Amino acid sequence: MTSPKHTRMLILGSGPAGLSAAIYGARAGLKPVVVQGMQPGGQLTITTDVENYPGFRDVIQGPWLMQEMQAQAEHVGAEMIWDQIVDVDLSQRPFRLTGDGGSQYTADTVVICTGAQAKWLGTEGEQELSGKGVSACATCDGFFYRGKKVVVIGGGNTAVEEALYLTNHSDDVTLIHRRDSLRSEKILQDRLLSHPKIKVLWNKQVERFVGGGDPEGLVGVDLVDTVTGDKSHEPTDGAFVAIGHKPSTELFDGKMTLDGGYLVVEKGTSKTEIPGVFAAGDVTDKVYRQAVTAAGMGCMAALDVEKFLADSDYEASKAAY
Ligand code: NDP
Repeated sequence: MTSPKHTRMLILGSGPAGLSAAIYGARAGLKPVVVQGMQPGGQLTITTDVENYPGFRDVIQGPWLMQEMQAQAEHVGAEMIWDQIVDVDLSQRPFRLTGDGGSQYTADTVVICTGAQAKWLGTEGEQELSGKGVSACATCDGFFYRGKKVVVIGGGNTAVEEALYLTNHSDDVTLIHRRDSLRSEKILQDRLLSHPKIKVLWNKQVERFVGGGDPEGLVGVDLVDTVTGDKSHEPTDGAFVAIGHKPSTELFDGKMTLDGGYLVVEKGTSKTEIPGVFAAGDVTDKVYRQAVTAAGMGCMAALDVEKFLADSDYEASKAAY
């Protein structure tokens, strides 16, 4: 068995938080190692237009932004590893982590930037028809619905952005929302509500994804009115579930304190309850959840790591005398 790969700063996740931590950590000479995770680049790799990341007057693409962040991190000395951590032992330092294929890592500090994943409704037919008409990513799958009818479920920024994006492929987009008002930004709402290819079904909850045909695919969604209780059916070729995200913290369940699934950090810092373990980005943020806030938190984590290592090195050198 090969010996574990040791690093002073191990970063889990390669979204804006992980890569910003890597850029700052590398520039501080910490030679960070980034274990990229299941979705290298994070959620922005499955989005399209980004209009609110500072520094770009014109619309940029999410995947491009992440490629640039990774290139910058590598340029300043961060190492990227295509692996997924499946087990962690944070009970003693150096921390020990195990990768998907059995690779072993040890680290003086760990920065958790594992982000969040799309939530599913959990209603009948959803799982069975996933990949056969039901999706949680318009950017990934919208292309398949050229000239077809699609629905988007949800009322936040993601749902509205997905509905707008889908008009690039489909002339018949329906947003289905369980209430009578959207929670997305006003500017996006205005675009959605005035879009000629989009209609909105208010106060409707999806009860069932209905399959049909051979080979089987989605043919419609059964709906229930959340105010009147009336049932209805909306025929559709594709359904995009866009109802928010859940933090990717399964690895830390029972090992660290979670709040609604989110990792808990000391207020105003990236420090978790375990000295030497830090968290940044969507995995610890249930409020802001923006690329730019994740990047800012990644920067904070790197600065916290730097200080932690400097303090531990100082303590170790004192003990040596
Ligand atoms: P949100 O939590 O903001 O919205 C989730 C939506 O899904 C809500 O409208 C909610 O309804 C609805 N919903 C939740 N659960 C269910 C359910 N079981 N059945 C039916 N509907 C449900 O999530 P988003 O992913 O939209 O956004 C997350 C964060 O990311 C936000 O802070 C958002 O601003 C940000 N974001 C920013 C973007 C940008 O700036 N470009 C792009 C995308 C996201 P209800 O309203 O009734 O609660």
